[in-house]
Amino acid sequence: MKQYQDLFFDFDDTLCDTHHNAEEALKEVFGYFHFENYYAQYQSFHDTYWKNNIYLWERYARQEITFRELTIERFKVPLQEVFQDRGPDDEFCMEINSKFLELCAQKTGVVDGAHELINYLKSKNYRLHLCSNGPHDIQYRKLESTGFINDFETINLSEDIGANKPSILFFRYALEKTGALPEYTLMIGDNYDTDIEGGMKAGLDTLLFDPQNQYENLSVKPTFTVNSLKEITKIL
Ligand SMILES: [Mg+2]
Repeated sequence: MKQYQDLFFDFDDTLCDTHHNAEEALKEVFGYFHFENYYAQYQSFHDTYWKNNIYLWERYARQEITFRELTIERFKVPLQEVFQDRGPDDEFCMEINSKFLELCAQKTGVVDGAHELINYLKSKNYRLHLCSNGPHDIQYRKLESTGFINDFETINLSEDIGANKPSILFFRYALEKTGALPEYTLMIGDNYDTDIEGGMKAGLDTLLFDPQNQYENLSVKPTFTVNSLKEITKIL
């Protein structure tokens, strides 16, 4: 097996249990802004929010919308249904979003086995780099809250770079900054479109973390696929 030197790690839902943390924060936002005045049930707000949020992140990855647009629209759309003539204005959506991100950034949930994996890889002397789509301040606060802040040699964030995964610009920048050689670098992440396709385009081997088994019929397969982080210790 090839001996990798540098490992590029996605953060959200690969190490940080972002989805679970956001679920908690969303419920708190609902209470904080008294959305129960508009929504009879939390669940219907929740379902509309998530459906729309996933769609917006896909558009953000394709660079069709900015992060600011994403943050406004993810609250505007579910609230549009309940604010009569027009949706809530952008300012209010930004306020909700700020509170939501603040709450998310305080959450400590990590993916099962994430710290154990990172400690194992450090003991094997791999050079670890974070490669994440997201805003600088929030990602750093999440790294602090989840205890990963000191684990990486470099932290590469889309907001700092000015390009998102899967853009080749993101990976070129990360390779240059880390000094990693593509042939000895493995990209590890849970998102096929951003982490895996982006990594492949940049000439990296890739490892797809697929805990829900949602990527069964891929025409172009990653170098490795695992369903748990623990399995990575059998590969690396
Ligand atoms: Mg991810």
